[in-house]
Amino acid sequence: SMASPALLMRVVASAYSVAEKAATIVRNVMAAGDLAIVEKTGANDLQTKADRLVQMSICASLARKFPKVTIIGEEELSTDEVTEELIEDGHCEEILKRTCPAQYRGIKEEELVIWVDPLDGTKEYTEGLLDHVTVLIGIAYGGKAIAGVINQPYYNYEAGADAVLGRTIWGVLGIGAFGFQLTEAPAGKHIIITTRSHSSTLVNDCISALNPDSVIRVGGAGNKVIQLIEGKASAYVFASPGCKKWDTCAPEAILHAVGGKITDIHGNSFQYNKEVKHMNSAGVLATLRNYDYYASRIPNTVKQSLMP
Ligand code: AMP
Ligand code: MG
Ligand code: MG
Repeated sequence: SMASPALLMRVVASAYSVAEKAATIVRNVMAAGDLAIVEKTGANDLQTKADRLVQMSICASLARKFPKVTIIGEEELSTDEVTEELIEDGHCEEILKRTCPAQYRGIKEEELVIWVDPLDGTKEYTEGLLDHVTVLIGIAYGGKAIAGVINQPYYNYEAGADAVLGRTIWGVLGIGAFGFQLTEAPAGKHIIITTRSHSSTLVNDCISALNPDSVIRVGGAGNKVIQLIEGKASAYVFASPGCKKWDTCAPEAILHAVGGKITDIHGNSFQYNKEVKHMNSAGVLATLRNYDYYASRIPNTVKQSLMP
């Protein structure tokens, strides 16, 4: 008989279904019309009812199935009892059928850390820029992002009533990433993608130094990495603190699974062990291809302003 699937594949398969449930919650909260917005550190750092419900849904659903896994979610929530309707018990059968890479087959629950951003791009969600929004579930082992699920609840929302709304992208190092069409950005063009709601002089000075052909300003770390792997942009550049481990873990796993690279602005890789500081204080630099071109052009003055 077949051996039972490895823990990592069971976690990814469950995270896939949990992220789809999350997407339904994101759409339902918006459709109901009361976002119940709370300011966290200020007007550019928001939490809505969707952020809260989705985090409860993801964390409770995964904790019930994998009780010894460490799960770190963005939102600080009062320990309200989670209602049963928020629990997702399903999994993606296709993922469960995939062979776990040999180096991950022996992983135990207590060795995994799951980083959850229940709703990435909250500011844009509140402003109706709905396709900027993603749900991020990143899975780390040995301090490295090794697997991830990104759900984009409003993918296709402007494509007409016939188009299927929403999609789920997943990836595992050593297997690859799925649920999208891998595409390289136009050769010889430098299309920079960056924040739209957390800009600063430093953010803009850094971009200028890269001689961009064009600059795309959109919300969400998940959204920006999706645009890298779909060839819409050549480099994600964010010379600022503000982005956190739950923003980068799932996107990093998917980007690395297809041969891309994400680091801080100095070129240091991110660590995802449970004790790590949440803030990516030294910014973000990510590409699908030609990482070295961009890394070599980050000004020293920018680097000196962003200590890890
Ligand atoms: P953005 O590209 O502005 O959408 O940022 C990507 C992620 O980092 C989002 O989850 C933001 O909420 C977060 N982020 C970036 N800068 C800040 C900031 N200054 N304050 C709070 N969150 C931030
Ligand atoms: Mg986020
Ligand atoms: Mg968030």
